[in-house]
Amino acid sequence: SSVQQVSVLGATGSIGLNTLDVVRRHPDKYQVFALSGHSQVEQLAQLSHEFQPKFVVISDEQHAARLKSLLSGQQTEVLSGASALELIASHDDVDIVMAAIVGAAGLLPNLAAAKAGKKVLLANKESLVMSGQLFMETVANSGATLLPIDSEHNAIYQCLPNGQMSPDLGVDKILLTASGGPFRMFSFDQLKTVTPAQAVAHPNWSMGHKISVDSASLMNKGLEFIEACWLFNCSAEQVDVVVHPESVIHSMVSYVDGSVLAQLGNPDMRTPIAYGMAWPDRLESGVKPLDLFEVAQLNFEKPDTERFPCLKLAKQSFMEGGCAPAVLNAANEVAVDAFLNDRISFLSIADVVEGTLNDIENQKAECLETILSADLRARAKASELLQSITGK
Ligand code: NDP
Ligand code: MG
Repeated sequence: SSVQQVSVLGATGSIGLNTLDVVRRHPDKYQVFALSGHSQVEQLAQLSHEFQPKFVVISDEQHAARLKSLLSGQQTEVLSGASALELIASHDDVDIVMAAIVGAAGLLPNLAAAKAGKKVLLANKESLVMSGQLFMETVANSGATLLPIDSEHNAIYQCLPNGQMSPDLGVDKILLTASGGPFRMFSFDQLKTVTPAQAVAHPNWSMGHKISVDSASLMNKGLEFIEACWLFNCSAEQVDVVVHPESVIHSMVSYVDGSVLAQLGNPDMRTPIAYGMAWPDRLESGVKPLDLFEVAQLNFEKPDTERFPCLKLAKQSFMEGGCAPAVLNAANEVAVDAFLNDRISFLSIADVVEGTLNDIENQKAECLETILSADLRARAKASELLQSITGK
């Protein structure tokens, strides 16, 4: 078949760079149509030199001016702003969209890609947490192909018949694995004083700062719980979280006959990325084969929601429904940013999220406007709570 055109949203990030590494290995199969970045102008310029995309998008106009001068003499067109992201996500010439912007900023471009019927490789879980119903309806209506890149959901997708949670096919439960993060063995007292540097040093995965903090608080598992329910159309009762510190099993599916299927591999995001890019085929990804003798042992534990309340808060918000998950997500984004900037303690993240959920009246997540306004109100409320914690 012909060469596939790829737009990489969030190209300068951890997932973006891993995606480009897979593309780099298969120039006969994939071509970069567009790249986007936010703050890393030099990095984006370098990537544009290498991959020669048609478009490169950066959020800020001043950054765009700098980028233009760095790319002078190149064919690449430099664009800025939110509408430009939607353009490269939905352009007629694009086949595959890697959705790898972090946080709520990914929502509109991801929806644009879904609406345009693209093959959407979804790394950005926050957009699905915010708008699960709307997002899945948009995909269904346009006939877009939605493939999960989050390693757990990619594993589940691979273990489900046709990627579907169909009760007719004997699927019983999803077993969502969690590494437990860098603080799995920390006591509540120890958690009081952990620093951002400790939180971003994940034992098994190298990732962006925001998701690393989420992994440490287990909010990441909470967001993934919600993500799984939407992606695979299942109820909260059908998803169990299993702590598995080695991160070798990326998740499992259990069937009514007692079978449990698992997907295993070294913890390297190029595996789910290559799976999504090549689907329904397979592609060499550069990931080294799993050495089971080196792994030697696989362990499993129950998650502890006393020390890690974010997991419980996320589940509760999903069961409440409506805009509650969008509120949870927005409050978490504000709180994580404050933690990373040394404004609040690690344990305060959960307090800010819980306080925001308690203070904001829930609404049905009927349309995009309602979701976006819930997101804004949650950010304002979370900022207020931050101020009351820090005293400034
Ligand atoms: P990074 O922080 O490494 O990268 C984020 C990307 O988004 C960068 O390209 C960044 O640009 C861009 N960006 C940041 N803020 C904005 C904004 N306001 N508007 C537009 N672009 C923006 O994150 P990761 O790659 O780790 O994660 C990306 C997404 O994938 C997240 O949603 C995460 O939850 C998910 N994910 C990540 C995994 C991983 O292994 N890293 C695993 C599973 C899911 P710049 O760098 O130029 O500022
Ligand atoms: Mg994950």
